[in-house]
Amino acid sequence: MIYFFDLDRNQMKDYFLSMGEPAFRAEQVWRGMYQHLAESPEEITALPKPLREKLRAEMIFTHLKTEDRLVSSDGETVKTLFTLPDSARIETVLMHYDERETLCISSQAGCAMGCVFCATGQMGFKRNLTSGEIVEQVIHYARELAHRGRKVTNVVVMGMGEPFHNYEAVMKAIQQLNDAQGMNLGARRFTISTVGIVPIIHRFAAEKHQVNLAVSLHAANDNLRDSLIPANRKYPLNKLIAACREYVEITGRRLTFEWALIAGVNDSTHDALELAALVKGINCHVNVIPLNPTAQFPGAPTTSARAQDFKKILESSGIPCTIRLRRGIDIQAGCGQLAARHNKG
Ligand code: SAH
Ligand code: SF4
Repeated sequence: MIYFFDLDRNQMKDYFLSMGEPAFRAEQVWRGMYQHLAESPEEITALPKPLREKLRAEMIFTHLKTEDRLVSSDGETVKTLFTLPDSARIETVLMHYDERETLCISSQAGCAMGCVFCATGQMGFKRNLTSGEIVEQVIHYARELAHRGRKVTNVVVMGMGEPFHNYEAVMKAIQQLNDAQGMNLGARRFTISTVGIVPIIHRFAAEKHQVNLAVSLHAANDNLRDSLIPANRKYPLNKLIAACREYVEITGRRLTFEWALIAGVNDSTHDALELAALVKGINCHVNVIPLNPTAQFPGAPTTSARAQDFKKILESSGIPCTIRLRRGIDIQAGCGQLAARHNKG
């Protein structure tokens, strides 16, 4: 059976035509699901009853089953663990902050990149998500927020998985959510975070998307980065930084670098100066976040005093830097941590 959220609007129209239904019916269903956030076509009352029944028999409208839902003690972060039809698990996190509702979505079940500090990396790769499974994470939370009169304002592809290893599905999902006849979520409201898959950074730059790009750096020399991020052996820093420079030049957009501060590993004055030298001249912003401790990595988070020093050094070298809070720490809201716990049990 066809999964509704896997189709873009044109594919929907073609599907309806192949069923002998007029294209405007496809538009009605599209609006009903993406604008009015109907749970199923049964709620779209503009549709004739026989068509609603036909759709129910011929299409699947949900792949995501909620297995667990946790709310942080301050109520500002909600994390859902979903099970997919083949029992793969993914996580989606909603963060309410500064009038924003930022959703952190997954692009794969597990991840093949094996970054040593990451709970998703520690569990290995299961499979790519389809565009529909990426879209439905947003729809799920949009429905939940609509009950409180609120909307998803930003989406970061920073949950489980490496989005640039599932590039087509991720870009298709963004385009589906971006559609003006549907949810109409602006491309600039999306951020894709990559571990640094150089050929896809080149491609993403050439395609000139309005979507924001973040690159997970965490180390400014190849020795240290090799030990934290195995993908660095394939895409070393000179190639990665060259691709980042090219991205900024081609798109004219500012790039974000991510840096998880690990006590005694990458949080010294020397590390900050090395980073400043590496990214010199790139229109960028550095987000530092104290490490979220995970089961299979002995590293500890930096102290907030060290994080402040790190930020000051970058800023005095002319590089804007923000210290991100470890949000939802009491609900394992770090990447992959909730699924890791369930996979064990
Ligand atoms: N695969 C992509 C996106 C998902 S990971 C990437 O690596 O960029 C999203 C972000 O969380 C990355 O910056 C990643 O390095 C970071 N991250 C993973 N585990 C972490 C941990 N234990 N503490 C802090 N940040 C972590
Ligand atoms: Fe994969 Fe990103 Fe985790 Fe690395 S940090 S293992 S690339 S999800």
